[in-house]
Amino acid sequence: MRNFEWTEPQTVEQALAWLAKANGKAVLMAGGTDLFTEIKEGVVEPDLVIDLTSIPGLASIQREETGVRIGALMSVAGLAADAMIKRDYPGLSEAAGSLATPQLRNIGTVGGNLCQRPRCWYYRDAQMVCRKKGGSQCFASKGRNKYHAIFGGGICHIVYPSDLAPMLIALDSQVTLSSPRGDRSLPLAEFYALPSKNIRRENVLAPDELVREVKIPPAKKGTRSTYVKLKERETWDFALVSAAVRGTVSGGGLGDVAIILGGVAPVPWRLAKTEAALKGKKLTETLIKDALRVDLQEAKPLEENGYKLQLVEAAVSRALLSVTGGK
Ligand SMILES: Cc1cc2nc3c(=O)[nH]c(=O)nc-3n(C[C@H](O)[C@H](O)[C@H](O)COP(=O)(O)OP(=O)(O)OC[C@H]3O[C@@H](n4cnc5c(N)ncnc54)[C@H](O)[C@@H]3O)c2cc1C
Repeated sequence: MRNFEWTEPQTVEQALAWLAKANGKAVLMAGGTDLFTEIKEGVVEPDLVIDLTSIPGLASIQREETGVRIGALMSVAGLAADAMIKRDYPGLSEAAGSLATPQLRNIGTVGGNLCQRPRCWYYRDAQMVCRKKGGSQCFASKGRNKYHAIFGGGICHIVYPSDLAPMLIALDSQVTLSSPRGDRSLPLAEFYALPSKNIRRENVLAPDELVREVKIPPAKKGTRSTYVKLKERETWDFALVSAAVRGTVSGGGLGDVAIILGGVAPVPWRLAKTEAALKGKKLTETLIKDALRVDLQEAKPLEENGYKLQLVEAAVSRALLSVTGGK
């Protein structure tokens, strides 16, 4: 591992000043559970690590009239255990509780979770100079691709590994980014970028920006949410496929609905056509299967990951029937 400098800013402004000064050679660190894997593996070789954990005020969950604000340094364990989150946004509590191990949830943060890097074994291997690292090919497209994307791949087949991102997008969250130019807020769905937009990064964060907080709008009456995560192992694991669903039930049918998948694409993947086909309907397993058909026809599975199509059906059906009380 290459030596690096270390700094512990006490304010967001100080952190941003360090980031600007290092001119692309610094990395931000929250819990470090993902970052240090990358540094130890030689995938990232920073000159400077900016430890955000000494900055006060970013590790809280605040309820306001306009919704709930979750600071970037809030721990994943704290989010999972929060009584108000459990009551009003149960799917978010489930997503946080499904992540990694108790130790990693204690140290890992919400901001770090939303900005973590892909787990693709070619990307994580310092010797493999894939497109994401400035090379000319995606080794997964013709290589070992069991865990890779079935949607949105094209030039790079990573899947975005975050458990919190699909659920926060299903809840219509906004993310606030801070830079020397001030703060800007955007829908979390627009924070993520496909490889065709930016092959080197998975999001639109500028080099001099950091994630300050996430805002979730107030939970509407009658709205329910759930997170179904399908893994290869019973113990800690990343999602092979996950389904984050928020929905309201009105007049016996499904009202407003959001279905966002994890583990299937380089960004959290919305099933907009399935949502439209199900709106206003009383759900059955057959109806859900039929509704999914159009979105699933757009999938482009690779040689080893066609099994994900069946997992999508299973995860989405389970999640939808759970929020509508069908099962
Ligand atoms: C064994 C293992 C299992 C895991 N399982 C899961 C899992 O099941 N689901 C899952 O979602 N994740 C999983 N992870 C990934 C990771 O541990 C979690 O996502 C965790 O929440 C990351 O948070 P962190 O604070 O430790 O991030 P860090 O490691 O500190 O940072 C991660 C990345 O985000 C950047 N970053 C951090 N904070 C900010 C900020 N405020 N603004 C801008 N950039 C920032 C860092 O520069 C870095 O690139 C796992 C990791 C390991 C090692």
